[in-house]
Amino acid sequence: MGFARQTRQVVAADAPGPPSTAVIYWQVWVEAGREGRIFTYANPQHLELAAGDLVRVPLRGRPHVGLVVEALQVLPTDLPVARLLAITALHQRAAVDPHWQELLQEVARQCHTTVFKTLKSALPPGWLGQSRPSQPAGPRPLSWVSAVEGVVVATPRQQQLLEALQQHGGGAWLRDVCGGWGFSRSVVDGLRRGGGVSVTARLPGLEAAGPPRGPAAASATVAASSSDSEPRALNTAQQQALAAILASPPGSELLLWGVTGSGKTEVYLQAAAATLAAGSSVLLLTPEIGLIPQLLDRCRTRFGTGVLEFHSGVSDAGRVLVWRRCLAARRGEPLLVVGTRSAVFLPLQPIGLIVLDEEHDTSYKQDAPMPCYHCRDVARIRCRSGSRLLLGSATPSLETWLACHPLSSLRKSDARRPATTLLRLPDRIGGAQTPRVSVVDMRLELADGHRRLISRALMERLEQVRERGEQAVVLVPRRGYSSFLSCRSCGEVVQCPHCDVALTVHRQREGRAWLRCHWCDHRQEITERCGHCGSTAFKPFGAGTQRVIEQLEGELEGLRVLRFDRDTTRGRDGHRRLLAAFAAGEADVLVGTQMLAKGMDLPQVTLAAVLAADGLLHRPDLRAAEQCLQLLLQLAGRAGRGERPGSVLVQTYSPDHPVICHLIDGHYERFLDEELQLRHQARLVPFSRACLLRFAGGSASATATTAAALAERVRPAVQAAGWELIGPAPAPVARVAGRHRWQLLLHGPAGTPLPLPEEQMLRQGLDGRVTLSIDPDPMEL
Ligand code: ADP
Ligand code: ZN
Ligand code: ZN
Repeated sequence: MGFARQTRQVVAADAPGPPSTAVIYWQVWVEAGREGRIFTYANPQHLELAAGDLVRVPLRGRPHVGLVVEALQVLPTDLPVARLLAITALHQRAAVDPHWQELLQEVARQCHTTVFKTLKSALPPGWLGQSRPSQPAGPRPLSWVSAVEGVVVATPRQQQLLEALQQHGGGAWLRDVCGGWGFSRSVVDGLRRGGGVSVTARLPGLEAAGPPRGPAAASATVAASSSDSEPRALNTAQQQALAAILASPPGSELLLWGVTGSGKTEVYLQAAAATLAAGSSVLLLTPEIGLIPQLLDRCRTRFGTGVLEFHSGVSDAGRVLVWRRCLAARRGEPLLVVGTRSAVFLPLQPIGLIVLDEEHDTSYKQDAPMPCYHCRDVARIRCRSGSRLLLGSATPSLETWLACHPLSSLRKSDARRPATTLLRLPDRIGGAQTPRVSVVDMRLELADGHRRLISRALMERLEQVRERGEQAVVLVPRRGYSSFLSCRSCGEVVQCPHCDVALTVHRQREGRAWLRCHWCDHRQEITERCGHCGSTAFKPFGAGTQRVIEQLEGELEGLRVLRFDRDTTRGRDGHRRLLAAFAAGEADVLVGTQMLAKGMDLPQVTLAAVLAADGLLHRPDLRAAEQCLQLLLQLAGRAGRGERPGSVLVQTYSPDHPVICHLIDGHYERFLDEELQLRHQARLVPFSRACLLRFAGGSASATATTAAALAERVRPAVQAAGWELIGPAPAPVARVAGRHRWQLLLHGPAGTPLPLPEEQMLRQGLDGRVTLSIDPDPMEL
């Protein structure tokens, strides 16, 4: 099922006063169950419609938003006119154009799912499907602050606000002023009473926010407060990279490989400026919502407040507005949008450049719901129509490396033509050295009778850091207090009642402890008695961020520590606030989970440490080594970005692990080559293909039976195609939130199509209580 051909059937405009008998019927794609179905509606209001418009229609007594597919001049004879329901209103004109339809169809094909699911997932949440009554019908007006001409008496802080407004063309949204800019509401109100600014309600979106300011406008801005408002004079490597990007033909794919702090972002910004100046829009993507504020700030300082953001931190209504601005911009000025993976579907047109920063990051992959797409693949499809794709990383993924650099020793059939142009930024800006790595063998610590989470060597370094007025970041792979709680008498581990995982201990401020499940968010009080033997002696095992902080504060008196994990960075500005506090010197040490390693630019940090690297090293996954080395190198990149040199300290029980050796020698490229050889010899991904079918259901037996039945059904075709069927087997975590999970793995030659029938065929006859999702290129294997 696809979209029908584009037919612009305009009732009112084509005929001078439509004859009352000229009823035109419309085929509208409406969500019914999990899929879309096409229904025929009448158009008694003579709304001017065309394929690609979103319209409001009733279905089973409820209001829905559906997509207009095509006009019907003649009703099928079996459809009585009297029973036809009517389209109630136009919801969004031209929401879907032919260009974008092709993108959706290709994504659906690659992800082995339906176009409707892809459409639903690509559009802003809540836009298509059953209308939620609670949702406001249209965009709500927001407060807009604009500077008033004339002389005012202002406090220094009010003066700063006036200057900031001037730098942004005289006006800005109140929520930006009080959010990202950091002015309090009372500063704004004081200035308003004094006649320095006016605050008015404005409808965001379309023209209201003012046109996004192109590079010309940005360079005319006088911004004394930030040195980032002007393009920097590029160094030679940056110049070469930028020139290569701009000279590459449309449709090209490039990898900008540069260590952290080598000036990749500066190259993105200048490539974006050139693209905007040439009249095309730019999409700047980052894997994590936590990296948005920093990137957005840099973009807004350079290009003005017109830069848009699109990610899960933006409200549903806000995302609809961004979508509408993209649709509207097709007739006007090009846009710059900063976003996470879902932004790759924004209807920017023409789009000249898509940047995927930190391209190796697995957050670019969507595991659920279907379509299980990889943002890089969608970007690649988009680029076929003339955009450039710029991938950036300090630690490129194996797949991307293979695309740049086919191994000479590969068999002919495996050696691909380099599809990606490699650009390198070999040095850090300002010539800072890459940090020195040292490893603490925790086995020796233990042998010396030192049983602490934090080794003596790390204690010493932290003390040094504090004495010198520097800062440190410490990575702990788990949030909370401890990994699990176990009974001292019988060894029983306290489990989540809904999932097959151990509960994690979390400490509250008052010292009270709770047990929490990191999979389903179940919370309960600490168990009094062991459910197995009745003993009351429990012991926490493993270290979470909270426990590390407790030890640090206990042993280094007066050490100021901040925690950076999912619990402490909630909310829209959580990351930004915490990082700002740390950057302002409010703490000596930042203890955090994996998100600590990503993209922060903190010049005072001279030490990056990782506790218990082992949990990361020994994950049972094909990509464990690659991902662990990427993470450790990223973390290392946090240290020594300023003037003082940085160092890295890794605590591990496996100091001879190849990943640790590669971390010490710093030859990521050598690691990639070795890993490619290994995978090639073993015929593993990317030299083969995998597809994971995931089953989940409330009943253990129904889920298992469904998985087994489906395996038998597809087995003949799978084997005939030379593919292997592995399983079905329970998923590594076999129960989550009360749902039992099974999986079936298909493994076959790279570059061959999946030997599976279409999704809807595959679902036929499945037990309705069991859900199935198809992940054609799973990240976890
Ligand atoms: P990356 O994205 O590779 O981590 P950035 O672009 O963030 O690197 O650059 C690191 C720092 O160096 C930033 O503060 C940036 O403003 C600055 N910088 C980048 N390029 C230059 C340049 N050519 N001259 C001076 N400073 C630069
Ligand atoms: Zn017990
Ligand atoms: Zn749970």
